[in-house]
Amino acid sequence: MNKTFYGFSVKAIILCVLSLILCTFMVIAVVVTRSEYERLYTENFLAEKGMRIDDTLSRFFFKTEVLSALVYYGDGDIVGFETVAPIIVDHPVITNILIAPNGKVSKAYSAYDDVSYLIGMNLFSEEHYGYREARMAYETGELVMSGPFMSPYGHLVLKGILPTYMDLAREDFWGLVAVSLHFPNALANAELDRLRTQGYEYLLWRFDPYTGERQTLSHNMDYADYYSSYIEKPIRFMNAEWYLRLKAIYTWYTDIEIIALIFSGLFISALVLFIAQNNYRLKQTKAELDRLAKTDPLTGIYNRRSFIELAQKDSARARRNNETAYIAIVDADHFKKVNDTHGHLVGDKVLVELATRMQNALRPHDILARYGGEEFIIYLPNLSRDMAEGVAERIRAIIQDTPFDAIDCTLPVTVSMGVAPYSSDSIEKAIKQADDALYNAKEGGRNQVIFTG
Ligand code: GH3
Ligand code: MG
Ligand code: MG
Repeated sequence: MNKTFYGFSVKAIILCVLSLILCTFMVIAVVVTRSEYERLYTENFLAEKGMRIDDTLSRFFFKTEVLSALVYYGDGDIVGFETVAPIIVDHPVITNILIAPNGKVSKAYSAYDDVSYLIGMNLFSEEHYGYREARMAYETGELVMSGPFMSPYGHLVLKGILPTYMDLAREDFWGLVAVSLHFPNALANAELDRLRTQGYEYLLWRFDPYTGERQTLSHNMDYADYYSSYIEKPIRFMNAEWYLRLKAIYTWYTDIEIIALIFSGLFISALVLFIAQNNYRLKQTKAELDRLAKTDPLTGIYNRRSFIELAQKDSARARRNNETAYIAIVDADHFKKVNDTHGHLVGDKVLVELATRMQNALRPHDILARYGGEEFIIYLPNLSRDMAEGVAERIRAIIQDTPFDAIDCTLPVTVSMGVAPYSSDSIEKAIKQADDALYNAKEGGRNQVIFTG
């Protein structure tokens, strides 16, 4: 392939492009595998975080069961509430606990806030946030979570409300007990704050059941980026449905290995281009050297060495086919005079013109070569003696008939020719015979053809 494009061989460009395609496929395969792995990992991670949120809240809300049991045991009241409450409130995340017969708060305790404002409050009343969950607890008989909402003390609170009954069949409704937790501190065990070091931004949100609006519960995102790629899963526990969204901070283009892979791909492709291009140049140089080794630099026709090679090769074929071939040696007459009179440059010009005229007079499979100096040699395969004489005479005539161009004048040139058959014997013998014939042609007065053998 010898075509080039901006100096690059087409083959080198194709190889380079193939290498680029291959490397691109490799990078894509790695990116796809890695993102798939990361997606699975993230989903797993989400599921685990969801479980931990559920777990940590359930553990705190279990305090409602304790309150409920004490109410049952106390036959509708907790005697010595002030004594037992600090035992129940054993963690700073618990903001307060309360009991509310028929929904009306009768006793409340907080380790650090004044909660006297709670006494007498009706949890079922629409004046207070959480009345829906209180009613839901009453209706379902289950622990219901409310919030997070803003407490009068200006912090977010999650509230667990449990209905309490005075019989084991849970038919004799007594009232509600509740435990409130600081939010988002209550989620500390879920270790959401560690997500950033684990390579994630997160957003925890829910639909506020009172307003129907999206409520961000907690996040570590740099900006509220709702649209970039992320994985989100609902976390369902008790009556709540929260959504946890995770977004990997590191993507493929921040992955040093993939960047390294891309650069290696580019480097390899450039290397392929470089090597293939060098190879192409080397082949071109070799072809040029071959050509130079085979040809005569002045006339551009074959030199003596390649003539012998080619003629020997063809004569083997000719012998197999019982063909006769001839060797002709052509020598310019008194060429020394041309040089002496008109100079070497004109002599060279005449030699080139001689080669051109002879080449034009020959058949395509005849072989013309410069034998040396002002001598030429011709291999004429597959022709009879008559035909060979015809060819030789024609060559002699086309040289004699038209004078050659010297720089400022024209110049008559003639040649003498010796021709010998080239049959089964060695080429050297045929050349020697043709040379002898040439000698005779010179002796005989030049500008003539002599056949021998
Ligand atoms: P003859 O008719 O007997 O062949 O006479 P001649 O002068 O041609 O023979 P001779 O062998 O004495 O001289 C050949 C001349 O050819 C000598 C040399 O200067 C010239 N010659 C050989 N090679 C080249 C060449 O490459 N360029 C030029 N300009 N002259 C050349
Ligand atoms: Mg000579
Ligand atoms: Mg001569």
